[in-house]
Amino acid sequence: MPTLKILGTGSSTPTLNRSPSAISVVFPHKQILVDCGENTQIQMLKYGVKASKLDMILISHLHPDHYLGIFSLINSMNSNQRTKTLELFAPADLLDLLRLNLKVSQTELNYYIDFKALPDENEEIFYEDDWITIENMQMQHRIKPCNGFLIQEKQNRRNIYEQKLPPNTPPQTYIDLKNGLDVKDEQGNILYEFEKYTYLSKKVKIALCADTRYLPHLAEKIKDADILYHETTFEDALAEKAEKTFHSTTKQAGMLAKNGQVKKLVISHFSSRYSNHLDFLLEETKTIFENSFLAIEGEEICL
Ligand SMILES: [Zn+2]
Ligand SMILES: [Zn+2]
Repeated sequence: MPTLKILGTGSSTPTLNRSPSAISVVFPHKQILVDCGENTQIQMLKYGVKASKLDMILISHLHPDHYLGIFSLINSMNSNQRTKTLELFAPADLLDLLRLNLKVSQTELNYYIDFKALPDENEEIFYEDDWITIENMQMQHRIKPCNGFLIQEKQNRRNIYEQKLPPNTPPQTYIDLKNGLDVKDEQGNILYEFEKYTYLSKKVKIALCADTRYLPHLAEKIKDADILYHETTFEDALAEKAEKTFHSTTKQAGMLAKNGQVKKLVISHFSSRYSNHLDFLLEETKTIFENSFLAIEGEEICL
C-alpha cells in the first residue's frame, strides 16, 4: 500500500516553522518525490526518506519554493555514488538550469537523469508502468506551466495476513504468496494456500494539487480520490488576495474535496503570515469538508 511522507508545508516566504514544498510518495515498487523546495534533502534525512531509494522526481512548477532543493539533492546523490537512473519530470526550462548548474560546478554525474518535460497545455498520462499511471493536471498559477499530479494504481496488490504466518517465515514464502502462488514443501504438499494467506488491497488514487487558483472543474478528475493534497495558502477572508496571487483558500480546497467526493483532504503550502497557529485554517476547511487534516512535516499517511 502506498504511503505519503510530508516533507515541506511552507510557501515562498521562508519561516522558521516550515520547509518549502516537498512530499514523498512511496509505492512498493517506486519511490517518488513530488516537488523539491530548498531544504528538502535535510527534511529527507530528518524524516527517514532515503535519497538512494528515490526513483523519480516530479516538479510542479518553477517557483523556487518548489524546485530549488533539486540541485543539492542531485549533487548529494552523486557524492553518495548513485548509479541508478533518476527519472525527472518537470517544466522544460528546468533542464537548462540543471545543465548550467552542472557546468558551472564542473560536475559530471555518475548516474543518468532521464529528464522529460511535462506538457505545457495538455493533460495526459505521462508515465505508466505495470502498477501505476501518473497524469498531469493543469493548474492556474502566476507561472506557466504549473501542474498537479494524479497518481493511480492500475491493479490491486496482494497483501499478506502477517499474523497468520509463523515467525521466521522465509522471505521467499512472502514473495510467492504475494505473487499469488501456493507454497509447497519438498514433497509437493501445500503448506500455504495464497488465497488463505493473502487479500487484495484496493486501488489507490492520489491527487496532488500544486499552487493554483480555485479550479472547480478539477472535481471531475479527482473524483473519489483516496486523498486530495491541496495547497491552502490563505484563510477564507483573504479570498480576494488568493484570486489575485493565483492561490487557494481553506474553503476552496474544501469545496474541491467535497465536490470531488474524495475520502480525505490534506491542506498544505501555508502562507508565512501564519505562524504555528494553523488550527483555524483547518476549522475553516472543515466547515466545508469534514474529513480534512493539516499537513504536518514528518507525518506519514498510509493509504
Ligand atoms: Zn509555492
Ligand atoms: Zn508557486
